[in-house]
Amino acid sequence: MKKVITTTAGNKLSDNQNSLSTGKRGPLLMQDYQLLEKLAHQNRERIPERVVHAKGSGAFGALNITEDISRYTKASVLQKGETTRVLIRFSTVAGERGAADAERDVRGFAMKFYTKEGNWDLVGNNTPVFFIRDAYKFPDFIHTQKRHPHSNLRSNTAMWDFWSLSPESIHQVTILMSDRGIPKSYRHINGYGSHTYSLINAKNERFWVKFHFKTVQGIRTLTNREAEAIVAKDRESNQRDLFESIKNGDYPKWKFQIQIMTEEQASAAPFNPFDLTKVWPHKEYPMIDVGELILNENPKNYFNEIEQASFSPSNIVPGISFSPDKMLQARVFSYADAHRYRVGTHYETLPVNRPIVEVNTYHLDGAMNSETKEPSDAYYEPNSFDGPVEDKSFAEPPLAIEGAADRYDHRDGNDDFSQTRALFELMGSYQKEQLFSNIAEAMDGVPPHIVNRQIALFEKVSPAYAEGVKKALGI
Ligand code: NDP
Repeated sequence: MKKVITTTAGNKLSDNQNSLSTGKRGPLLMQDYQLLEKLAHQNRERIPERVVHAKGSGAFGALNITEDISRYTKASVLQKGETTRVLIRFSTVAGERGAADAERDVRGFAMKFYTKEGNWDLVGNNTPVFFIRDAYKFPDFIHTQKRHPHSNLRSNTAMWDFWSLSPESIHQVTILMSDRGIPKSYRHINGYGSHTYSLINAKNERFWVKFHFKTVQGIRTLTNREAEAIVAKDRESNQRDLFESIKNGDYPKWKFQIQIMTEEQASAAPFNPFDLTKVWPHKEYPMIDVGELILNENPKNYFNEIEQASFSPSNIVPGISFSPDKMLQARVFSYADAHRYRVGTHYETLPVNRPIVEVNTYHLDGAMNSETKEPSDAYYEPNSFDGPVEDKSFAEPPLAIEGAADRYDHRDGNDDFSQTRALFELMGSYQKEQLFSNIAEAMDGVPPHIVNRQIALFEKVSPAYAEGVKKALGI
């Protein structure tokens, strides 16, 4: 026998087709609570979309560690032979929830590992660097990517105005405008932890680390024209590709690698290893194989498991930690705070966010608190009632920091151009031509004084870069 529809209080419904009216044609009755409940629930079906990375797709899978890196970290999730369930959410950055997938934009690559030692989240991108290095500029930067408050249109002028006044952006701008700026699908991108993090071993020694996830499917990209043709027919091309590949058993995989720097190497490095606009050159800091990541399970319910998925770099486990990277420091606060606002104070109790280990906090109350704990007198700490206590064995080694507190000019003496030049010189002539024409198209409608200011930055990377862009612009 089929189940009977009920209200949320479990009261069975006799009719789900006809509302309760006075006479056949008459007005509706307030007592038709079932009608009111349906309409009221519909009004509440959406939660605020993410301010950034609003449009996304995701899937579950596993991280398998195949190599021994215990000399660098004691984290159980990174020990040879370990398999850990993972959720990955891919996204574009600027577009709203209904935006098309095949757009020129950075792709988010957010990972939640449900480890035996609590959740470890790595909130990466498909690029190893970012547009800015100081989070003080993050709201300003994002304003340039979103809609103009007057016209409600996105503004090329705002983007290039900000970039041309922020030379540290040129590395990421070059990647964004390159052939890799529009990935063919989420399966065909690399994931980078981007920030520098730390690894801590059993002897409590700290190493600095960069995390890399290299696509086994290979990098595949779209030209502007190819992307336009796709968007005209399908705004969900990346969601469709990921969902159908997994449904058909064609599971995407990534090779997991790290780069390591000792604390001594970091002090001696010719660049700031905690600067998010810089990579660590492979020659000096070679890639170390660690394992493999596979996605093999579509979510059962998109809203519950992907829209409500809440990633935060504040989620770390023993053996993995933060670094002085100013952008990382700010993200450690702002991601969790975004979820408290967007999903709710108790977002980490939702099944998709809940760790597989026991959670013991002294947080109390708050909206939608669904945890009914055993009655206890230990609802503050310290207490005399056997409540959970701290454990000093989880302390990290002290981090030596020097210098006076000040607002240091992060642009003073910072070389924004050498690494961008290295990338430009890696590109073949076809890639360079694409870079020039993508930039020219993206500069449509931008006032000449802003274009010229940006060309002066390209010139500092390489005269050939500036010349190529000028030619594509017809200057
Ligand atoms: P390598 O020659 O060892 O590495 C170059 C890297 O650039 C490869 O990882 C390659 O990825 C990647 N790459 C190639 N074309 C593009 C593109 N259009 N957009 C983004 N990445 C691309 O040199 P270095 O390590 O000395 O780095 C040189 C430059 O390469 C850097 O300044 C940086 O711009 C870029 N890069 C460096 C990375 C790093 O971690 N060192 C990571 C990614 C980019 P693939 O192997 O998949 O083709």
